[in-house]
Amino acid sequence: MTNKEKLLKDLKIGCGVARPVRSPRGTQLHCKGWYQEAALRMLCNNLDPDNAENPDELIVYGGLGKAARNWHCFDVIVKTLLDLENDETLLIQSGKPVGVLKTHTNAPRVLMANANIVPQWANWDTFHELDKKGLIMYGQMTAGSWIYIGTQGILQGTYETFASLGRKHYHSDLTGKIIVTAGLGGMGGAQPLSVTMANGVAICIEIDPTRIKKRLDKRYLDIEATSLDQAIASAQAAAKNGTPLSIGLCANVCDVLPAMIQQKFIPDVITDQTSAHDELNGYFPQGLSLEAALTLRKTDPETYKDMALNSMALHVRAILELQKKGAIAFDYGNNLRAQAMKRGVDNAMDYPGFVPAYIRELFCRGEGPFRWAALSGDPEDIRVTDRELIRLFPEKTKMINWLKMAGEKVEHMGLPTRICWLGYGERERAGKLFNDLVRDKKVKAPIVIGRDHLDCGSVASPYRETEAMKDGSDAVADWALLNCMTNVASGATWVSFHDGGGVGIGYALHAGQVTVADGTPEAENRLITVLRNDPGTGIIRHADAGYKTAIDVAHAKGVKLPMINMET
Ligand code: NAD
Repeated sequence: MTNKEKLLKDLKIGCGVARPVRSPRGTQLHCKGWYQEAALRMLCNNLDPDNAENPDELIVYGGLGKAARNWHCFDVIVKTLLDLENDETLLIQSGKPVGVLKTHTNAPRVLMANANIVPQWANWDTFHELDKKGLIMYGQMTAGSWIYIGTQGILQGTYETFASLGRKHYHSDLTGKIIVTAGLGGMGGAQPLSVTMANGVAICIEIDPTRIKKRLDKRYLDIEATSLDQAIASAQAAAKNGTPLSIGLCANVCDVLPAMIQQKFIPDVITDQTSAHDELNGYFPQGLSLEAALTLRKTDPETYKDMALNSMALHVRAILELQKKGAIAFDYGNNLRAQAMKRGVDNAMDYPGFVPAYIRELFCRGEGPFRWAALSGDPEDIRVTDRELIRLFPEKTKMINWLKMAGEKVEHMGLPTRICWLGYGERERAGKLFNDLVRDKKVKAPIVIGRDHLDCGSVASPYRETEAMKDGSDAVADWALLNCMTNVASGATWVSFHDGGGVGIGYALHAGQVTVADGTPEAENRLITVLRNDPGTGIIRHADAGYKTAIDVAHAKGVKLPMINMET
């Protein structure tokens, strides 16, 4: 039996129904090149039961964020990738493989467009109509673009946010501070570990006990409290001793926050990462048990949505009340504020989003979430990349601390992976380093390098990445398209363009790229070009909006800005 035949059998390709899927590992190719092989392995990795939140439904994370439209589409994608030539490009339309075109060897092997709807119709109602007809798929950011790496993907970004909050408000880390948040899903599950990595104490409210168990099992969460009183007492004791601790509490956040206010317990920080961007499939309304809510979703979706939006209004009012009483409040990128505004909470925007509050300055420097996966499946390959990256950037002490902490505390989910934020110039150096490691056989198989769509140049999202831009260009989506086209022109291995990631359909347009280091000189060229130009669009976008840091970085690093150079 050939490798390919064995894989088709192992993955039960052709059966068209749900079954556990894991990425192939090792050094043997099943496809006609490592680029196709990487796409195949990362697609399977997105659906690995250790990685995906609901793999049977092909849901990877973030409410309905899926990796393929249905199991039949998954089977055909795998088969097509296995046969794809090194000068062909597979087109994926909302999780469905729709065609293969002859392109050239330096072109992307896969191009994806997920959940894009003409703006006038871009809302959840139209999406659900199209979804019912089997015409569309919600790809979130990294679910539909096959570069989800489990909760670690968001871990460093979340850690950076909490660490930056500590520096900004307390001139230190979060020692002795209590952070209250909700949602322990695919992304939100990174919150407890991020808070304790910044030495703080977290109370994390989650309605679904299986999510709490998953985070406890993976050591992202320390303990579970059986009541609010117990959670508060444990949090206060840990904060008093300056001991980091994360506490899960199984409840609806809409019940817990008003109870905290009534008990006069005001946390230092309040935020939220429930899937509020999706009032039908993401957020649980107050007054229903988990089981009753899941039934109502199916039997009466209109009533469900109405209840969920009302609950979100209550939720935001409670956050505003806690803010008034002294808590630092920020929105964590799930569109909760805009949803509450639909139910009359006109001052929902009185607390800021996390990007303008803590991240924009990094974006101005072209910094963003650089991530990679070892296609060998061997965690030792990640240890090698961690070690070599520390050697390459000895001056980056924060990055070094992070890599050491991640090496100790982060369990791999699916293929071994790592993430760390790198800036303009650094990303291409890291890409070349990884390609050299593959060439010199210091790692056992090629490495896939990608990123979240949440990055400096790739998103237009007025309630998140582009909230409160200096020049008012929050809703201008040309930038995300330019980023997408730049990545195609630069030779990324696969490139994607989506609507709705993070904040829901109609609220964001964003692009992603993934590029493979297979040790060849061609891969080196592609990596250097992509990893220079991809964050380069972020510097250009922020310089154009008038951010001085971005203009200074552009001048210092040779990013050409024709208009700005003419004016100065
Ligand atoms: P998810 O759907 O996997 O998890 C959401 C969790 O919230 C679920 O476990 C659910 O049970 C829980 N929940 C929903 N309503 C609740 C309620 N009323 N009370 C208590 N728990 C409730 O989603 P995820 O991947 O964790 O993402 C969470 C949100 O964060 C999404 O809106 C996503 O778009 C957004 N997001 C933010 C960032 C960021 O950088 N800040 C990145 C990615 C995603």
